[in-house]
Amino acid sequence: MTQLAPVDQARLAALRDLVTSGITRDLDWRRSRLSALRAMVLEHEEALTEAVREDVGKPHLEVRLTELSFVVQEIDLLLANLARWTAPRRVGLPVTHLPGSAHVQLQPKGVVLVIGPWNYPVQLLLTPLAGVLAAGNTAVVKPSDLTPRVAALLAELLPRYLGADTVEVVVGGVPETTALLQERFDHIFFTGSPRVGRIVMRAAAEHLTPVTLELGGKSPTFVDGTVDPDLAARRIVWGKFTNAGQTCVAPDYVLVTRDARDALLEALAGAVEDFFGADPSRSDDLGRIVNADHHRRLVELVESSGGHVVLGGDHDVDDRHYLAPTVVVDVPLDAPLMSDEIFGPVLPVIGVSDAAEAVGIINGRERPLALYVFSEDRATRELFETRTISGGLAHGAPLIHLAVPGLPFGGVGESGMGRYLGRASIEELSHHRSVLNKPLAPDTLAAVYPPYPAWKRSA
Ligand code: NAD
Repeated sequence: MTQLAPVDQARLAALRDLVTSGITRDLDWRRSRLSALRAMVLEHEEALTEAVREDVGKPHLEVRLTELSFVVQEIDLLLANLARWTAPRRVGLPVTHLPGSAHVQLQPKGVVLVIGPWNYPVQLLLTPLAGVLAAGNTAVVKPSDLTPRVAALLAELLPRYLGADTVEVVVGGVPETTALLQERFDHIFFTGSPRVGRIVMRAAAEHLTPVTLELGGKSPTFVDGTVDPDLAARRIVWGKFTNAGQTCVAPDYVLVTRDARDALLEALAGAVEDFFGADPSRSDDLGRIVNADHHRRLVELVESSGGHVVLGGDHDVDDRHYLAPTVVVDVPLDAPLMSDEIFGPVLPVIGVSDAAEAVGIINGRERPLALYVFSEDRATRELFETRTISGGLAHGAPLIHLAVPGLPFGGVGESGMGRYLGRASIEELSHHRSVLNKPLAPDTLAAVYPPYPAWKRSA
């Protein structure tokens, strides 16, 4: 049975035609689209913030900081560097090819499909989209079905600000996305789970469409006795409980050396109370779990953990899916809590004898999206740098490596492929065409034309 495509062929063809018309090569066209996207975010800050708050239940300031400001800063970075980052790169010719010249030209790929998740529903659609436009592409954008208000708002605003010739928004869940993935795109930029990442990559293979997969997983955090437990705990608590732990690069679990374990647990409890008060359910600064299914999944993860809850644990599905910041110890390494991505405000803390044991545990698992190390010891830091592989590595602070202009962001292995943000977005979303200019005269290639002299044949 043929499924009905949610985006019709004529619309897709029009999006592709705009790119092949050459208009999008023009840097002014790209600047105008980036500026329009920027204006859209700023002019509809209130409505976007409210939509995210209603869909995901995150605090007002978090939406501004981690979604809207993030997008605006990325656009500003792209605008400031567009000419430099898209300029042709000259390449020297070997003597055999002279006279002549060569360069690498970054070309738009065509129509890029951007599929986003629900946890940062604005940022994770518009930041890739900014890269798509900066590279001179047009886009089909598919927001998550779990954030219907954001999806409806973007479906109204994006074509209005960017033009229906530049962007199409497809709203829908699994059936709509399945149908959409049957279409031919020139690149697919997917952010979401490894499970759906596989579905996307399988569909892309039908058309040999290149993919960027920004996936998730369990990002480990290592702490040893060389660091101040209070300072480390404040950073970990902030990174873990921002957006109620529903952040792809949130510290998923902590591996702490046993000599530092008790001090860290005490400091974690202190930081949670400092940030969210004695009763976090009454804090305006703690987000909620996105829906009842995820709430149930998290409660079951804690109940089946085989460990001991030493902080939090209380939950109330009727209070907008509330789950307290929770710390669990003595969790067996094969418990679901230590094998599934948690994606919620639950932090397992596991004792290890030393950094080498932590490296062994990390290397026995899928390659993570982020790895956080809290140690003042140089040899320990080097051990993690040389003996582990992860999408990103940050010493002393979670999450904020994403906001360093110039640091590309992406996963490796199970946490994804490809990278973006800033220059990396333009490189990822462009075709790198090799161009050679060779004058016809003098005809320096004459030396390799047949008929080949006998001495050359035997050489
Ligand atoms: P998800 O994979 O369930 O959904 C992502 C998108 O795919 C949504 O738009 C959804 O509608 C669509 N989708 C869902 N099922 C599909 C199917 N069967 N066929 C086609 N499309 C389908 O992910 P999510 O729950 O929205 O987000 C959470 C996951 O995303 C976590 O694993 C998290 O770590 C990851 N994530 C990664 C990053 C990153 O930048 N690497 C950022 C945020 C979230």
